[in-house]
Amino acid sequence: MIKVRILLLLASCLAVLSSCGKPKPKENTLTAAEFSADSAYTYIKQQVDFGARVPGTVAHELCYRWLTDKLTSFGAEVHTEQGTMLNYEGREQPIVNIVARFGHQTLANGQARKRVLLCAHYDCRPWADQEADYRDRFQPVMGANDGASGVGVLLEIARQLGQMDSDKQPNIDIVLFDCEDMGTPEFYTGKQREDTWCLGSQLWAERHKSEAGNYSYGILLDMVGAPDAVFPREYFSMNFAQQHVLRVWDIALKLGYGRYFKQEVSMPVTDDHYYLNTIAHIPCIDIIHYSSEGETGFAHYWHTRTDDMRNIARESLGAVGTTVMTAIIKGTSKNSTF
Ligand SMILES: [Zn+2]
Repeated sequence: MIKVRILLLLASCLAVLSSCGKPKPKENTLTAAEFSADSAYTYIKQQVDFGARVPGTVAHELCYRWLTDKLTSFGAEVHTEQGTMLNYEGREQPIVNIVARFGHQTLANGQARKRVLLCAHYDCRPWADQEADYRDRFQPVMGANDGASGVGVLLEIARQLGQMDSDKQPNIDIVLFDCEDMGTPEFYTGKQREDTWCLGSQLWAERHKSEAGNYSYGILLDMVGAPDAVFPREYFSMNFAQQHVLRVWDIALKLGYGRYFKQEVSMPVTDDHYYLNTIAHIPCIDIIHYSSEGETGFAHYWHTRTDDMRNIARESLGAVGTTVMTAIIKGTSKNSTF
């Protein structure tokens, strides 16, 4: 019997050896979540087709109604939050933020799982104040990339969430901010006020700061549709929410989107996430197209009349949407290693 034992021992050694020789599953692979770039593109075009969505205009009102109807049709619990903030001249500016809620997952102890905040702004800048010709600076910005691109990606994410079984839906709040882009125009010569940008997110952050503990983190999307989009790790995002930047950028790399998601840290950008971090204390990152090559850090058509559909590419929307969708799905699955 000793022989057999030896043989058995040999066999088990061989088994160990052969299992060691098997290729390990690749660590760098990650299954991408479903996301349709075509659909996101269409949602951007539909916003742009309303015209410039400047607060107070018919185009803004029609777009607001379309967004709430669309989100409701995807099965979200939708409500609007209204208020006023002082604008760059110190006048009361009406604000209408849109909130769409998905998912009611609970922990084993029955407590609600923390929610993830996904946000973008749906307003357009009233003045194309980066135009070369002074007269053009008083025309509105169409905001295909600056505004509509982030909203389009979030609408497609909402559509995907709506197709999931309700018990599998991650706990997500999609917030579409109003009046992000009403910051002091370049041509304004009056008394300069602080914090004139991001009025909708400032209002939201003030109202919801006592609920910060309900949120694990947030992702803001702004100017995510350009064909040559690059997303460095934005400075404030790294400062306030580094672990979330690293995780999302890691997911993007594993999905093969390293062409877009860069390792460098960019200059600080005052965007809606800044106020979510500093007023509401919800760690929030910003995925934003920023390049140090240009004079402003933004694309040459930024805050001009040519921010239109010519600057939107499905591939970039796919890279951002798939990354964010994968991050929120993997991040809330019970068996997830993320
Ligand atoms: Zn802008």
